[in-house]
Amino acid sequence: MITSATKLNAVIGNPLGHSLSPLLHNYMYERLGIDAVMLAFESSDLRKAVNGIKDLGIGLTAVTLPFKEAIMPLLGSVDPLASKIGAVNTVVNKNGRLSGYNTDILGIAAALKGVPVRGRKVLLLGAGGAALAAAYYAVSNGGDLYYLNRTPAKAKRLARRFGGEVILPKAVEGLDPDIIVNATPIGMHPKTDATPLPGYRFRKGQTVFDLIYNPVRTRLISEAARAGARAVSGEVMFAHQAIAQVKLWSGKQAESGKVIRFLDKNLINL
Ligand code: NAP
Repeated sequence: MITSATKLNAVIGNPLGHSLSPLLHNYMYERLGIDAVMLAFESSDLRKAVNGIKDLGIGLTAVTLPFKEAIMPLLGSVDPLASKIGAVNTVVNKNGRLSGYNTDILGIAAALKGVPVRGRKVLLLGAGGAALAAAYYAVSNGGDLYYLNRTPAKAKRLARRFGGEVILPKAVEGLDPDIIVNATPIGMHPKTDATPLPGYRFRKGQTVFDLIYNPVRTRLISEAARAGARAVSGEVMFAHQAIAQVKLWSGKQAESGKVIRFLDKNLINL
């Protein structure tokens, strides 16, 4: 029951139509016995949104595109890992002091658990906020990074920050990457016929990680799995980054198996 004691949490971004954070967070609050509700606030003015977090006493804020980088200078402190990545997806408000964290990286680590990265060729598609965390994960685990992005200048920015090489689409086949990470929205609902690598021949021994979780089985994931590659959906990352957000704010930890089963049940119906 929502009362005047119920705590308010938020997801901020623009657009937010795609965000499933409220669905997932509200499920976890109920499971963990936390009297809180998460609502989505689409904002066109980040500074005002940050003032709103303070004024309304919003305890936990999930930050999504396009604010993951821009919010950093507006916070009281930024966790060292989030600073190294260069992006914040979580803000915790303790008595008006806002601290920024990056839990996307924990979600990526959970999704790629058991996948060897050291000395492997990692092809990263996309160069936005989520790609920053994926690039950091790859370099900090000793991977050799290759970037492919619609706007090469943005990929070059990542290469300058994390090392690695920017490539063009025609170089993908010859590269023969061991790990492919899709950090673009290509293939996301409702354009589920799209894939970031049309005509690409996947192979056994490859890992293909699609950050998209809606749908769980994208065209990229289906094609990779059909070719015998290890295909990892963004669902695992989505679950783990949200579990870590709730833990940072409340100290309570939801069970990942239950959270993923909940997502399976609900994402399939979208
Ligand atoms: P973002 O900051 O907007 O970056 C998107 C990237 O994709 C940009 O590099 C952009 O290229 C590229 N892109 C967008 N539309 C494209 C198109 N039609 N053709 C080619 N390239 C295109 O977004 P983000 O926050 O990094 O998110 C990227 C994806 O990851 C989204 O699908 C999001 O849902 C997913 N994600 C999943 C999780 C999870 O927990 N599983 C967490 C975060 C994000 P330009 O540089 O040329 O603009």
